[in-house]
Amino acid sequence: MPELPEVETIKNDLLPHLLGRCFTAVNLLWAKSVKKPPAKEFCSILIGTTVDRLSRRGKYLILRLSNSYNLIIHLRMSGTLLLRRSNAEPDPYARVIFDLDDGNQLRFCDVRKLGTIYLVADEKSIIHDMGPEPLEPAFSAEVLKERLKKRTAPIKAVLCNQKVVAGIGNMYADEILHNVKIHPLKKAAGLSDNEIKKIYKATINVLKTAIENKGATVSNYKNPSGEAGTAQDYFKVAHRFTKPCPTCGPEITRIKVRGRGTYFCPKCQSAD
Ligand SMILES: [Zn+2]
Repeated sequence: MPELPEVETIKNDLLPHLLGRCFTAVNLLWAKSVKKPPAKEFCSILIGTTVDRLSRRGKYLILRLSNSYNLIIHLRMSGTLLLRRSNAEPDPYARVIFDLDDGNQLRFCDVRKLGTIYLVADEKSIIHDMGPEPLEPAFSAEVLKERLKKRTAPIKAVLCNQKVVAGIGNMYADEILHNVKIHPLKKAAGLSDNEIKKIYKATINVLKTAIENKGATVSNYKNPSGEAGTAQDYFKVAHRFTKPCPTCGPEITRIKVRGRGTYFCPKCQSAD
């Protein structure tokens, strides 16, 4: 599932191709991808507008339009955004195709059809109750400590909670916890100040490194040019079940934490 580094990569890659471009048509091949407003309204509000700004909040990609509406996209499990020439081969899992005034198309492709698209005047009607952006200067060890102190859930689950910190999901939470040698089931509220400081630093390092590697491709994720990311090549635990821990040797274990598949090293991330 695309997380902060993947969505940030998509935003950065799309930016030069979408800024100032006008939507000339939209084709809803799977209309249920659009959650708001109804399909007809969606098309009439969108067509003829230009893209004024692209931003990201957590795992959401936000296109600010010239009519003050926001086109908000969440890729969920398997969504990707591809930029193609309008006469290029069809993509098998294209669900929504946006035609641009330069002959390009932005194609929202989604194997599992779980991705969501909104077109709303008020961004906050969709994106609310979200924790701080981990790569913004306002995020600090103190901020993290404050947000963890009353959470009795396992730290793995808390790091994935968008209300606590924005943008972190399954893969990067596992990588962060391996980086700081903390067991994923340890209670968030039971972490020492020193452990929180380490988690804070690891969060920034892990996410920045993944962005430098253009995100991780473990299943469907591709950047807008259709290329895979390489961040997964540097993963130490995520999706590395039974492979040796690069830090200390034993096989990576997999457990479920609040329903999420969780990878960790039983030795360097021991519970005691
Ligand atoms: Zn280890």
